[in-house]
Amino acid sequence: MGFDLDINEKDHLMIGQADSTKLAEEYGTPLYVIDEMKIRENYRKVYQAFSKYYSDFQIFYACKANTNLAVMRILEEEGSGIDAVSPGEIYTSLLAGFEGDRVLYTGNNVKDQEMQFAIEAGIRLNVDSVSQLKRLAKIVDPDGFKISFRVNPMVGAGHHEHCITGGEMSKFGIKESEAVEVYQMALDLGFNPVGIHSHIGSGILESEPFMLAVETLMDIAGNIAQGTGIEFDFIDFGGGLGIPYHPDEEELDLDNFAQEITGLFKEKLVHYGLGKPTMCLEPGRYIVGNASYLLTRVNTIKESYRKFAGVDAGFNTLLRPSMYGSYHHIVVANQARAPAKEQIDIAGNVCESGDLFARDRLLPEIKEGDLLAIMNAGAYAFSMASQYNSRPRPAEVLVKDGETDVIRERETFADLLNKQVLPPRLLK
Ligand SMILES: *Cc1c(COP(=O)(O)O)cnc(C)c1O
Repeated sequence: MGFDLDINEKDHLMIGQADSTKLAEEYGTPLYVIDEMKIRENYRKVYQAFSKYYSDFQIFYACKANTNLAVMRILEEEGSGIDAVSPGEIYTSLLAGFEGDRVLYTGNNVKDQEMQFAIEAGIRLNVDSVSQLKRLAKIVDPDGFKISFRVNPMVGAGHHEHCITGGEMSKFGIKESEAVEVYQMALDLGFNPVGIHSHIGSGILESEPFMLAVETLMDIAGNIAQGTGIEFDFIDFGGGLGIPYHPDEEELDLDNFAQEITGLFKEKLVHYGLGKPTMCLEPGRYIVGNASYLLTRVNTIKESYRKFAGVDAGFNTLLRPSMYGSYHHIVVANQARAPAKEQIDIAGNVCESGDLFARDRLLPEIKEGDLLAIMNAGAYAFSMASQYNSRPRPAEVLVKDGETDVIRERETFADLLNKQVLPPRLLK
């Protein structure tokens, strides 16, 4: 428990062996700083934990967590595949060097044009509805065309209601009770359904809900195999592996998690005579979440009805606290060993009351000019950033062994007007 921080002799927070205060001076704030080795470590941790118990194991990094091209290149080098949820993510995956057969398109409410785009790129489609299946049959010659289905196994879990993607309130996937029927329909249309998929939610820190989802999906897969004679090439349990955001949260015991899940998986394979399909997982958050920090400068200390430290980032830069009420740990990066002293609200610079990074957070005494590091800002952080309030989005830098590369330049005012067109009658 607690977070391991690397702090130098000047009490400055170090990220990837670079001094965070120097990064902030050199590149300005707000700034996303990504630690390359952390991404590689996280990927290897998951890969090794699972492949140790089941060798035919493949990770499809859910890139919506962080679509920076450099991040995706790193994961391509590590041997990952990609779970893409939009044509834009497919486009980025191809640019990052992923072959089409290493990309799975798990879209929802997909339109024909988007399927067409994926097919031309040689991407595997993970079909979400009967509607999509029927439309796909008109776009492509189904004869032997490989597909998989996302199934909703009536099990949901997640750190927030918005992140629960299984169960009867969820819009995702085909109904558990109709799965056999839908696979048969696909066969009758001539398709070759080779895979089955579910993704029940996000931010899961215990194996229990995940085990239940694995059990349910395996039973569904078993019924499909027995009912239709389909042999699965792969069974994909989606993502959702959580990370501790609060220092009191326990890390997921990955080895134990992997052992339990692969154990159940293998047992069910034997039980239903499912052969030896590839086992797939689609972690997003787990791979990139703790690899990045958002550096932001305190520009205002205000003693109003409450005490606020006002910073130069806002929910336009990091949405999770405002959108999900998420806790993000905050460190005073230029005095990272200072003892906690007072409770304070950390407020962003967006003109909305909900723009707070923390309420009543116990922190060292904060002064104007201090640098704050908001931790665990690697997943669903930049990828959810916007230009709201007409603020250009921040830069991203990648750090490895103390060396820094800018992997996304800070936007300028001109970028705010990108693609806008003034009608001639309004020209001045
Ligand atoms: C978002 C998503 C994931 C990744 O979820 P994490 O919680 O980041 O691991 C995996 N698969 C699908 C289909 C998703 O939509």
